[in-house]
Amino acid sequence: MPKYLPEPFRIKMVEPIRLIDRPAREQALQAAGYNIFNLRAEDVYIDLMTDSGTGAMSQEQWAAMMMGDESYAGARSYHRLKAVMDEIFGFKYFVPTHQGRAAENILTSVALKPGQYVPSNMHFDTTEGNIRARGGRPTNLVIDAAYHPDQRHPFKGNMDIDKLRAFIQEVGADNIPFGMITITNNAGGGQPVSLENLRAVSATYHEFGIPFFIDACRFAENAYFIQQREEGCANKSTLEIAQETFTLADGATMSAKKDAIVNIGGFLAMNDETLFQNVKNELILREGFPTYGGLAGRDLDAIAVGLKDGLDENYLAYRVAQTAYLGERLLEIGVPIIEPPGAHAIYIDAAKLLPHISQEDLVAQALSVELYREGGIRSVELGTVAFAYEDPDTGQMVYPELDVVRLAIPRRVYTQSHLDYVVETMQRILEHGEQISGYRIVYAPKLLRHFTARFEPL
Ligand SMILES: *Cc1c(COP(=O)(O)O)cnc(C)c1O
Repeated sequence: MPKYLPEPFRIKMVEPIRLIDRPAREQALQAAGYNIFNLRAEDVYIDLMTDSGTGAMSQEQWAAMMMGDESYAGARSYHRLKAVMDEIFGFKYFVPTHQGRAAENILTSVALKPGQYVPSNMHFDTTEGNIRARGGRPTNLVIDAAYHPDQRHPFKGNMDIDKLRAFIQEVGADNIPFGMITITNNAGGGQPVSLENLRAVSATYHEFGIPFFIDACRFAENAYFIQQREEGCANKSTLEIAQETFTLADGATMSAKKDAIVNIGGFLAMNDETLFQNVKNELILREGFPTYGGLAGRDLDAIAVGLKDGLDENYLAYRVAQTAYLGERLLEIGVPIIEPPGAHAIYIDAAKLLPHISQEDLVAQALSVELYREGGIRSVELGTVAFAYEDPDTGQMVYPELDVVRLAIPRRVYTQSHLDYVVETMQRILEHGEQISGYRIVYAPKLLRHFTARFEPL
């Protein structure tokens, strides 16, 4: 039995949840067009759709919110956040944004021209969407191991440096306004990137004069994996590892809804002064004045405290062990997952679990619907629905290499018995797996289609 570290906190506020009966779940699915984004949250029993903005804030964060300074400009809350930003990230400039995709939107709108490329290990869906929305071409250059779910690799989020170099030479550095890397690699199983790889990626981008931006959503979880797994890093604190990480980059985008454990917020950080000027102008148009960027003063205070909470090593040890517990228990009963477990989520290899359903018939969507039908559990499809796209050059549909269902673990929210319930539900699904049918799309927008698409069972 895998180890479950006791929660390093006790609970002093509770939110009731309930399991509605099976006919009610079936009816809810029909009304939702079989898209679990359309369900009412109160009809969900265990909500593992995302770890984004769903964490439980600490008493220190709630206390900090009471100190929020709601001044339009130059608020104390901004300066408290700035002090923490300076300490952890160390970039010359930053602007708050209302969440991560807002930072991506601002960055792509000021720095990216149509036809240009943005390489990364793997872009997350919103990053990919923002790049495509500007006519850009997101390019994934993760190491090959990332595409083999059952291959264990300590840093499966690493970028393939040879592929990166060849790619830059092929399309030309002039066609790459900035390069990225996602830590941890959310779209590829929440897998970490090593410091060694971050150094090599930084050196490669910089050799060609390409600015390097880190998608830093889970920088603290990444730092913890580095401390645990990378040679020579065991004696460094997670804060020191994070600091070293960001000295390698020219900027970062972040959704504070992840490792800053807040319900809303994000930022865009950078060293380049001209870029900062342009960012500020765009921000004022889209988000708000540069010292609040679409957030309330109290939100900035919650982020400032949450960034430190997120780096706490007792918390990180528990978090990583909790997710590993779910992953290892699923493996024990024969559910194929992306191995090894990441920090924030377990990714079920739906294509392998339900081999009788093809990618065209939306295998991961089918599993995601079944998790709700069987146990009231909400997950998210990260496969054909989320990532298949029409190639702008050939007009052909390009299918993703992995068709997975992600079970994301909200921070400090669910306990061991909730996760045991998830395992028991999966066990029942395994028993009738071959009876599950595929789905077809009846409506889908062009970009980020998983959020609003509607489906029909085949
Ligand atoms: C969540 C996430 C984003 C987008 O952040 P939002 O706050 O949801 O807009 C970008 N990149 C990664 C890796 C993420 O996990």
